[in-house]
Amino acid sequence: MSDINGETLNVVSLSRIRTKTDGEGVTTLVVSMGCPLRCAYCINPFTWDGSFKGKIYTAEDLYNELKIDNLYFLATGGGVMFGGGEPLLNADFISSFITKYKSTGWKFSMETSINVPLENLKKVIGLIDLFIVDTKDMNKERYELYTKADYDNFYNNLKYLLKEVGPERIIARVPVIPELHKDKEYEDNVKALQEIGIKGIEVFRYVNPSVRKELSDTSKKNTEEFLSKIKKDIE
Ligand code: SF4
Repeated sequence: MSDINGETLNVVSLSRIRTKTDGEGVTTLVVSMGCPLRCAYCINPFTWDGSFKGKIYTAEDLYNELKIDNLYFLATGGGVMFGGGEPLLNADFISSFITKYKSTGWKFSMETSINVPLENLKKVIGLIDLFIVDTKDMNKERYELYTKADYDNFYNNLKYLLKEVGPERIIARVPVIPELHKDKEYEDNVKALQEIGIKGIEVFRYVNPSVRKELSDTSKKNTEEFLSKIKKDIE
């Protein structure tokens, strides 16, 4: 979804003056296109279902938009949050962008599922101040049912990230997902994360999936497949 040379970024939107959601300070969220996961209740399915095109930015275009909030970033210790979709699909762009603009003094953070090839994670690992990891589930069967993606790759990347950057630079987000977490499975997920040494953990409830409006047929089918599989598991 990004230019193969990492020279451009396909952006859904920029969300300015965010506080309290992305760690310390005021941030601008850069939402990029593309995601390797297929979460059944994805709130941003237009990043992967082909229903939206995005807008192409060069590094300079992006910097010119972001610098409008320079004073807020510097005064509050905030900066830029890369999100998506999956920002690590754009590891080349992000690593060259941060390298080019790190003298700004901005903080660079990322919200990611980290379920990408390890080499993508390695490209940005030394440049990101805070990783917010969207964990989905710490049980292989539930994770794969919900995301249609490989659990082992996610888990190995999480352990690699923890070993390389330490727990201070990681916040693990633990969702409570309708249908998937009918009991208190999220408590097992919290324990599993604590056992491997993650310290910053945030539990949050998914918005009711019925509020997702105007879903594409691709996205609706994805949700329906999950619901029919999980019903079979229950029966
Ligand atoms: S990680 Fe899941 S929820 Fe996030 S954009 Fe991808 S499919 Fe959607």
